[in-house]
Amino acid sequence: MDKLKLAVYWASSCGGCDIAIVELGEHLLELAKLADIVFWPCAMDFKYEDVEAMEDGHVDVCLFNGSIRTDKDEHIAQLLRAKSKVLVAFGSCASEGCVPALSNILGPDHALQLAAWHTPTTVNPADTMFSLRTAVPEGELTLPAVSAQLRTLEQVVPVDYTIPGCPPNHDQIWNAITAVVEQRLPELGQRLGVDSRTVCDQCSRERFGKLRIDQFHRPHEVIAEASRCFMEQGLVCAGPATHAGCGALCINAGMPCRGCYGAPEGVIDQGAELLDAIVAGMEGESDAEIRRVVGTIVDPVGLLYRFSLAASLLHGIQSTPVEAGRPCAILRGVGAEGASL
Ligand code: SF4
Ligand code: SF4
Ligand code: SF4
Repeated sequence: MDKLKLAVYWASSCGGCDIAIVELGEHLLELAKLADIVFWPCAMDFKYEDVEAMEDGHVDVCLFNGSIRTDKDEHIAQLLRAKSKVLVAFGSCASEGCVPALSNILGPDHALQLAAWHTPTTVNPADTMFSLRTAVPEGELTLPAVSAQLRTLEQVVPVDYTIPGCPPNHDQIWNAITAVVEQRLPELGQRLGVDSRTVCDQCSRERFGKLRIDQFHRPHEVIAEASRCFMEQGLVCAGPATHAGCGALCINAGMPCRGCYGAPEGVIDQGAELLDAIVAGMEGESDAEIRRVVGTIVDPVGLLYRFSLAASLLHGIQSTPVEAGRPCAILRGVGAEGASL
């Protein structure tokens, strides 16, 4: 049997999804027998020209992680789509935008200003800003242009499958690779490595069904009981609005689920689903009391949409940047899609 031609790419990514592949451990040796890696810039020395020189459809499977934040990300996404028989949105950034998509709310200008001028570790006395082109004695240095909105892979090119998770766990990755090798992939468009349940269904914590809480807390503010539902202790847990597949990893480690496997089957907006689950749990309370308790959630968008904002119904939402003015030369400008909070 011919060996599989496998490509792995990171667009705007933290690198964790690539590490998740390395965490295949001993399966990596089996992978070497089953597949030739034809492109994996994070791990091996490949050039983009190597991909450009490939015939269309040359790559059997491409695991594409990271979101689409720059014109370079978009270009490589289009290139790998053309060169790959099967394109997989690998991990939460590629499939739903993940945490970086929260920067869409204040816009890329704000994110760049924060990175260039205001992080605790930044020393930039001249207030230098990133620039698309910089002349140096050796020639011209260039940076990719940042898009007005961070997008998921599917918002740029057609995607065949999704493997959710931040990052996906190694069992799930191995199952997906063996499914390709053994030609037992499901219908196009499916998520791989999940089942039809939610994280709640995989959770063994005791629950009584009704939320009798005075306020929500952040995890560092309370010591949670070890065997009782987090939500019933006033800790927001995304379990009711999150696809099962990870085996309730965070719950078993004593932390509420944050929702990294994305919305369950049939749900198009994970944040709205989670808010609905919270409000449903408070059934019987007055509207005013429900509003008051829900109002104690700190950073509700960051919590309810932590992983899924770019893929949600709110994907075009934008608020007023905290620091206006001094536009960045690297930006193309805010897109017409932007709406006000
Ligand atoms: S999904 Fe998570 S681990 Fe993967 S690139 Fe995004 S932030 Fe990193
Ligand atoms: S809300 Fe969280 S802690 Fe409670 S049952 Fe669901 S997954 Fe478990
Ligand atoms: S428990 Fe939730 S946040 Fe943790 S790995 Fe599973 S889906 Fe992701």
